[in-house]
Amino acid sequence: MAGKLYLVPTPIGNLGDISRRAAETLAAADFIAAEDTRVTVKLLNHLELRKPMVTYHRHNCETAGPAILRRIQEGEDCALVTDAGTPAISDPGEDLVALCAAAGVAVEAIPGPCALTVALSVSGLPTARFTFEGFLPLNKKNRRAQLEGLADEARTMVFYEAPHKLRATLDDLAAVFGPDRPLAVCRELTKLHEEVVRLTIGEAVERYAAQEPRGEFVLVVAGCPARVEAADEDGALARAEQLRREGLSLKQAAALAAEEFGVKKRTLYNQMLEREGT
Ligand code: SAM
Repeated sequence: MAGKLYLVPTPIGNLGDISRRAAETLAAADFIAAEDTRVTVKLLNHLELRKPMVTYHRHNCETAGPAILRRIQEGEDCALVTDAGTPAISDPGEDLVALCAAAGVAVEAIPGPCALTVALSVSGLPTARFTFEGFLPLNKKNRRAQLEGLADEARTMVFYEAPHKLRATLDDLAAVFGPDRPLAVCRELTKLHEEVVRLTIGEAVERYAAQEPRGEFVLVVAGCPARVEAADEDGALARAEQLRREGLSLKQAAALAAEEFGVKKRTLYNQMLEREGT
């Protein structure tokens, strides 16, 4: 009988965040597929576990993936971990899950730490609807194009970012979304120097021009404010004139047309007074 692939989230900074179920799953697995075994061995030492490990990362996933799948099909249980957080979210774990799913192999996700949800929940921005953008493209032109595609996005947007690219990304955010858009810069979450700064994009540009960005970042950006439809002043005037022809008083016509077209009653009244020369 085939084994299973377990997706095991690991702490994004605070070892205390490893759950009992995650630890039990690691202990029960036949082998662990780790992004970097040197990182994972520290976690295993903390849990007093010793386990056979293989590497599975961006540079070997094309060969390592099928090899892991074969072992699972032959009956072994594999626990997939990354350096930090939930496997398959902005890391090559998603390819292994797809490979197993396509082969009919069972995949079980253990819930746990994820930089995306930690940042979103602490951001202070609307969370009911959001879009996760992960890492923006490295290439400046592609990064701009991707952001421009989000110019009218009304949902809160979440981006992962590396410290050395933070300044360029903030500049691009300011250019596309404008400097007044609110954002939360979430840095070193769950770690000793955790910092959540809620400010505007323009203020963030200034802040990180003055200080070197260090650590790991998640940017949570407010969505595009709902556009207020421009009031149809010409339409209101035409409607008021029509109502006048139908016999309504100037005051009644202005009030009704103003309400129908969402314009100011007093302004419309004055315009009509002027037109009628009374
Ligand atoms: N799969 C992981 C998850 O979703 O939690 C994320 C993996 S991704 C390769 C790494 C990125 O997650 C970092 O570049 C950073 O944007 C974010 N990240 C991870 N740990 C973080 C932390 N403690 N504080 C802020 N951001 C973090």
